[in-house]
Amino acid sequence: MALDFDLIVIGSGPGGYTAAIRAAQLGMKTAIVERELLGGICLNWGCIPTKALLKSGEIFETMNHAADYGLIAEKPTYDFAKVIDRSRKVAKQLNGGVGFLMKKNKIEVIEGVARMEKGDPAPKVVVDLRAGGSRTLQCKYVILATGARAKEIPAIGLVGDGDRIWTYRDAMTPKAHPASLLVIGSGAIGLEFASFYRALGSNVTVIEALDRILPVEDEEISAAAQKALEKRGIKFRISAKVTKLAKSKDGVTVTLDASGKSETLEAERAIVAVGIDANIEKLGLDTLGVKIDRGHVVTDPHCATNVKGLYAIGDVAGPPWLAHKASHEGVHCVEHIAGKAGPPIKAPIPGCTYTTPQVASIGLTETQAKKDGRKVKVGRFPFRANGKAIASNETEGFVKTIFDEQTGALLGAHMIGGEVTEMIQGFALAMTLEATEAEIMATVFPHPTMSEAMHEASLDAYGIVLNT
Ligand code: NAD
Repeated sequence: MALDFDLIVIGSGPGGYTAAIRAAQLGMKTAIVERELLGGICLNWGCIPTKALLKSGEIFETMNHAADYGLIAEKPTYDFAKVIDRSRKVAKQLNGGVGFLMKKNKIEVIEGVARMEKGDPAPKVVVDLRAGGSRTLQCKYVILATGARAKEIPAIGLVGDGDRIWTYRDAMTPKAHPASLLVIGSGAIGLEFASFYRALGSNVTVIEALDRILPVEDEEISAAAQKALEKRGIKFRISAKVTKLAKSKDGVTVTLDASGKSETLEAERAIVAVGIDANIEKLGLDTLGVKIDRGHVVTDPHCATNVKGLYAIGDVAGPPWLAHKASHEGVHCVEHIAGKAGPPIKAPIPGCTYTTPQVASIGLTETQAKKDGRKVKVGRFPFRANGKAIASNETEGFVKTIFDEQTGALLGAHMIGGEVTEMIQGFALAMTLEATEAEIMATVFPHPTMSEAMHEASLDAYGIVLNT
């Protein structure tokens, strides 16, 4: 059978569309199948539109504190529909951008729902076309980049109904602004929405089953984040597991178990943000015998599955569930297919949460480093001792660095504060280049910038901090 394409990518999120572009650059005849919108969740329903919402919330918060800057903004207010509309326009612009990139790189976009069947030299891809009919395509390689969706737990009612019980999708396009909101889960999704809705005045309570918020972060960051968010009026119920969520007469009722005691909370709306499930259904994975572990496709360090010609990248292939991990894997996978890849990916993956203040981190937490049996040198530097932060009225938060005492290698860096999501890349570069404390100390950080706190936190780990 003649081959229709060299490569078919299923799913056009940041993993899939990036893989397709790299494949086209490497001369592969490439197609991408998308059942909904080009750009996937990230561009249409995740990373990007939430950042637009959060920017509106952040500016509104600043407007409410205009007097701190010697400015006068009397009774600032907002037009909720326009805030939402701006976020949708931003998503649409990026969705259009992916369409442009596909055309520019001569990648055929196939609109429809894909599934796979046995084929040779790779699985066949059968697409039920949005326009009607279907196409059966044979190619050399298939990359599965189908992403993930909000985890729902029907047994206890943690299921979005689009009206009163929201998943992230509903929370991004609400019909009205809720006066009160319960957020179930204190990961990035829960806290970003908590931050946005609180900034616009909702009464927000976050419920977290574990004993701290942002449980994947360093403990000190979790504690500082909780304090900073509480200062803004967000309430927290920690070590409180939601055992039932139901619609009430006017809103929602959440039953939770806190230290063995059952309690109920009421609000107008609830957001379910208890993690995500990979999109592995109805793809033909069973028929092909694709190995699955804990709901994710199992891959090797080059993103290959156990089935010849089939690769998987991004959320569908397991954690961390981050767009930049997906796109990085996409490029590596395609370069590997083309025989042009370097060694398996080993670059550490930064994580960012866009609350106010922001949280960003990379590498090991202090606890993880110690659990690994390493002796560590830990440094900290508060933004309240940083000139630019004082000038900008962004003195909340700090930078924490963790070095290996023996080798001086930077093991991890953790930050909370203004624009730290932009700064973490400095530490990412340092870790990719396997920098030690000596190289970070010898690096010149521009003044005045908040990034100087990264330098100072590194100096602090070795007892030579300058500005505290
Ligand atoms: P998450 O897994 O990060 O957090 C979910 C939280 O819900 C956990 O802390 C968990 O303990 C808690 N939980 C689970 N069941 C509960 C219950 N019954 N009662 C109370 N609490 C409960 O998941 P998420 O926030 O939904 O995000 C999903 C993924 O998407 C994450 O991996 C996240 O990193 C990624 N994401 C990243 C960003 C970003 O980088 N800014 C933004 C959004 C999502």
